Amino acid sequence: MGDTLYDTDLLVIGGGPAGCAAVRTAAGVGMRSVLVEPDRLCRNLYRIPALDNVLGGHTSGPALADAVAAEIRGTDLCRVELGRYASEIRAYEDRVTVTLDSGARLTAPYAVVATGVGPLQPRDVDWITAPDGLTPSPLWQAEAAEGRTLLVLGGDRPIGTFLRAHPDTGIRLLVAYPAADAYKTEEIREDPRVTLVPVAHLTLADDGAAEATGPDGVRHRL
Ligand SMILES: Cc1cc2nc3c(=O)[nH]c(=O)nc-3n(C[C@H](O)[C@H](O)[C@H](O)COP(=O)(O)OP(=O)(O)OC[C@H]3O[C@@H](n4cnc5c(N)ncnc54)[C@H](O)[C@@H]3O)c2cc1C
Repeated sequence: MGDTLYDTDLLVIGGGPAGCAAVRTAAGVGMRSVLVEPDRLCRNLYRIPALDNVLGGHTSGPALADAVAAEIRGTDLCRVELGRYASEIRAYEDRVTVTLDSGARLTAPYAVVATGVGPLQPRDVDWITAPDGLTPSPLWQAEAAEGRTLLVLGGDRPIGTFLRAHPDTGIRLLVAYPAADAYKTEEIREDPRVTLVPVAHLTLADDGAAEATGPDGVRHRL
């Protein structure tokens, strides 16, 4: 662009699959970019041992992450700022300004915010009531002995990944999920290790007990 107002053509915040795709696409049309990522590129993919829904024949998240990271490192038009996060983004008529945690400020005509999503805690959702300070592990970090049953809060995609990644596990999953998650439970509905419990509300106690209120208003203990 050659305008000294700008440090680059495109600022991309977040180096997950979406941010990496953005810088590759930008490079394809000759745009320079700066990619800001506090961790490593595609860090979430390292948590997916078994993949079955991506193009290119990848069946392992870490292998896909390595391939994407290598491609980004080989993209001359992209400068990667690893170990930094964006602490502020301001949009103006003609530019976007991103301030990094280091205090450095970057300006470009365009920005893509690709900061993804993360696990929610019970306090973040209105369909669960839980004691203060209860912070259950995400499923991919949960520790459970073979033969035990895990109560899973919500019917999200990582459940299918967990089951595909552990085809021989004896762990059972009792999945309590709100109506909004119903469509995501399709892929696990037939798995014999899963019991699906649709709930309108779930109340968790300190001792691990859970009381579910079903969509029909009937209460039962889990
Ligand atoms: C256990 C598990 C299993 C999954 N299984 C599958 C599967 O089988 N198939 C599938 O398609 N999907 C699966 N997913 C979902 C998949 O990982 C996400 O859809 C995908 O990672 C989303 O990509 P993204 O780039 O939008 O966001 P993310 O991968 O979340 O990347 C966002 C990035 O933004 C960075 N970031 C956040 N805040 C800032 C900031 N302030 N400044 C700079 N950077 C920031 C983060 O460090 C992160 O690297 C799974 C997820 C998990 C956790």
